[in-house]
Amino acid sequence: MDFKQYITVVEDFPKEGVRFKDITTLMENGEAYKQAIDEMVKYAQNRNIDVVVGPEARGFVVGCPIAYSLEIGFVPVRKAGKLPREVLEVDYGLEYGKDSLNIHKSSIKPGQRVLITDDLLATGGTIEATIKMVEKLGGIVAGIAFMIELSYLDGRDKLDDYDVFSLMEY
Ligand code: 5GP
Repeated sequence: MDFKQYITVVEDFPKEGVRFKDITTLMENGEAYKQAIDEMVKYAQNRNIDVVVGPEARGFVVGCPIAYSLEIGFVPVRKAGKLPREVLEVDYGLEYGKDSLNIHKSSIKPGQRVLITDDLLATGGTIEATIKMVEKLGGIVAGIAFMIELSYLDGRDKLDDYDVFSLMEY
């Protein structure tokens, strides 16, 4: 399937000069959404994954159905102040600013093999922070899967030590 036909490229969002890749038009199409997730599940299937981790909010859209299909758990990574129990916090640089991300400390057990997922790899800041959190808690990053990779932003340079899969490239 040509997945790109379901992505809408929005000019100048959220600010001038950015060509935003809108995945909601893919999500709206049941067949495209299912096939995209199935492709990502195929990547994960032979990697002995114990748990899926994804940053809010679009990391959930991708990560939850992958975890469901693999019959394993999903662990959310969220913006500061959203998770109710004891958290580990990591600062990160965004494509459009700066922020911090949280994960529940008890969610990853040392030695667990983790698949990290998000909708899109841009500069790699979000995923770098997510990797840092997983590894601080003793998890092994066994794979990283994106729906979309913006190759012109060189985010993959930050992920040299990891196995990275992306369904579409721009
Ligand atoms: P990074 O941290 O790699 O610079 O940015 C990736 C994060 O920003 C992802 O969580 C992603 O959801 C969001 N993001 C940045 N640019 C885009 C875009 O063009 N389309 C979508 N859907 N998300 C984006």
